[in-house]
Amino acid sequence: MGSLEIVQIPVLTDNYVYLVHEPSTGATGVVDPAVAEPVLAALGTRSWRLGHILNTHHHGDHVGGNLALKQATGATVVGPRADAARIPGLDVAVGDGETVRLGAAEATVFDVPGHTRGHIAYWFRAADALFCGDTLFALGCGRLFEGTPVQMWASLTKLRGLPDATRVYCAHEYTQSNARFALTVEPDNAALVARASAVDAARARGRPTVPSTLVEERATNPFLRPDSAAIRRRLGLAAAEDAAVFAEVRRRKDQF
Ligand code: ZN
Ligand code: FE
Repeated sequence: MGSLEIVQIPVLTDNYVYLVHEPSTGATGVVDPAVAEPVLAALGTRSWRLGHILNTHHHGDHVGGNLALKQATGATVVGPRADAARIPGLDVAVGDGETVRLGAAEATVFDVPGHTRGHIAYWFRAADALFCGDTLFALGCGRLFEGTPVQMWASLTKLRGLPDATRVYCAHEYTQSNARFALTVEPDNAALVARASAVDAARARGRPTVPSTLVEERATNPFLRPDSAAIRRRLGLAAAEDAAVFAEVRRRKDQF
């Protein structure tokens, strides 16, 4: 049972909340509800009943709606075991390699520390959908608030290895500014240049640039490309470890 209906709800300044609906059973979840009201409205117009809240990490723009949604719907809150104490209303703690069920659909959980120490991602393999919160962004990656570059690189390595067709449902619309930075790191990457102009065109029309696909990210996202000879030359790190190249790209982005 592969199909999932995914509804993207833009909230706050640049956050995306996702409804995930499994049609054969009607099971419905929400990923990272920053706020409750727009989620309740989106459920209401579809007559969907919320059963699960799936959190990737503890930041307020990902869990802010947990308690109000739990109160309104009785939904079960699922979140990272490594951060259980910081997830409001947590009912079910999960970690690396465990499975979360949503009706007939299944998500594999990955521990992806770096942005926060307890960050997780949910991969619905049969639906080719990855919910990665603030770990991997379209053309970017999350800031290292609580982790080291080595940790974050290990986390991104797990996600980078998923199938080409995987759609990357990240939690923020940061792509346009990420593209500007990416072009400073790898200006001669033709796929990146083309993608950056497609992103500009989409944003000019007010369209989302998320989800992207993993095959696009591997070809254009500088944070997934520390093995690129062009990036290494540009950074003067021809012989460094991948994690060290990643760390330098992240350091430059922090100052961009
Ligand atoms: Zn965050
Ligand atoms: Fe966030």
